[in-house]
Amino acid sequence: MEDYPGITTEGRTLMGPGPSNVHPRVLQALAMPTLGHLDPEFLGIMNLTKELLAKTFETGNEFTIPISGTGSAGMETALVNLIEPGDRVLVCVNGLFGQRMADIVTRCGGDLALVEAEWGRIIEPEMVEQALKARRADIVAIVHAETSTGVLQPIQPIAEAAHKNDALLVVDAVTSLGGAPVRVDATGIDVCYSGTQKCLSCPPGLAPITIGSRAQAKLEARKTNVQSWYLDLTMLHSYWGRERFYHHTAPVNMVYALYESLRIIHEEGLEARFARHRLHSDALKAGLAAMGLRLFAQEGYRAPMLTSVEVPDGVDDAQVRRHLLAHYRLEIGGGLGPLKGRIWRVGLMGHSCTQANVMLFLSALEDALTTAGYRVEPGAGSLAAAQYYGAHGSGS
Ligand SMILES: *Cc1c(COP(=O)(O)O)cnc(C)c1O
Repeated sequence: MEDYPGITTEGRTLMGPGPSNVHPRVLQALAMPTLGHLDPEFLGIMNLTKELLAKTFETGNEFTIPISGTGSAGMETALVNLIEPGDRVLVCVNGLFGQRMADIVTRCGGDLALVEAEWGRIIEPEMVEQALKARRADIVAIVHAETSTGVLQPIQPIAEAAHKNDALLVVDAVTSLGGAPVRVDATGIDVCYSGTQKCLSCPPGLAPITIGSRAQAKLEARKTNVQSWYLDLTMLHSYWGRERFYHHTAPVNMVYALYESLRIIHEEGLEARFARHRLHSDALKAGLAAMGLRLFAQEGYRAPMLTSVEVPDGVDDAQVRRHLLAHYRLEIGGGLGPLKGRIWRVGLMGHSCTQANVMLFLSALEDALTTAGYRVEPGAGSLAAAQYYGAHGSGS
C-alpha cells in the first residue's frame, strides 16, 4: 500500500470562507464509537442536539433539525419543500449564494423574480417592498451573510416587507449562525438554514434548518409531492420527531460532532460569541487599513466573520495565497465569479476567530505582500491591531 500513504496532515490555520478550524473536543466527539441510528442512546443525543440547535437559532420552533449534507443541502431543502410549481418566489441577489438560490428556485418550478444589488452592497429594503408591490410573492429568499462579498444584510426590514405582503421569508444563515445574531423568532424568519462548517466550527456535512409554523402550514397544504425524496422535510420530521420512522441513516458521528460544537457555543454564550467575532474582526480591519489596504464590502454592513479585502493593483492574488499556505500553513479565500482576482476573503469563524490568528495573519500578509513587490510599512498592520486590542480588551 505504499502508493497510498495514510493521511498525516498537520492541518492548517483555516481563515478562508469555510471550513473553519474545528475544536479538538469536536474531533474527539467524531471519533466516538458509532451507534445504531435508532439506538436509544443515539435518540437521546438527537433530542438534545435539536434543543441546542433551536437555542442557537433563538427560536421556539420544535421543527429544528440538521439535514444530512452541507450548507447547500440546507438551501435546497428550504426551497424544494416550500415551493410548489408555479409559486411566486422573490430572490434577493447581491452575490454568489443569492444566485444559487435563484438557480434552485427555477429547478423546482418556482416562478422567479429577482431583486438585485451590486456585489458588495446590501439589498435595500425599499427595493424588496417595491418588488412585492409590483408583483405578489409567496416566498421571499435572502442571504444574511453573503460569503462571496463579506456583506452582512439587515434582515428585520426585509422580514417586515415580506410579512406585510403575505409572503414567507427564507433566510440563508450558513455563514452567520453562531457568529452574529440571527434571532429567528424575534426577526420573524419563517425558514432559516445554516451549515456546520462556518461559525459553528464543526466539519462540513450537516445543515441545520428550522421551520416556523407558517412555513409548516404551507408544507402541510402542499398538493404535490416534494420533488426531492431525500430532502422531504415531512418525512425527515417523522424520523427526527416522536415517530422515529426510518428515512435514511443519520450520519451518526457527524451528529455527535454537531452536538459537541453546540455545547461549546452555549458554554461560551451566544452574546459573548457575537462580541468575540466583532472584536477580532474590528482588530483585523484596523490592521488591514493601517497596511493601506481597502475593504471591499459596503461600509456599515461588513460581516464580522468574513472580511473582503481588495487585492492591490499589480499584486497577483493567487501568489499571495500560495505564499500564505506554503510559509504559514494559513488558508484564506480568493474572489468568486466577477470578483475572481479582485478580492481576498478572510474568515474569522468560530474556533478560528482569535487574537492569535488575527496577529498571525497580519504579519504573514505583510510578508507575502512584500514578497509580491507591494510596499507595506513594516509592522503597521500588527501595530494597529495591537493598539485596537489595547483599547478594546483582547478577549481570547
Ligand atoms: C458556504 C455557504 C453556502 C454553501 O454551503 P456549503 O457547505 O458549501 O454547501 C451557502 N450559503 C452561504 C451564505 C455560504 O456561505
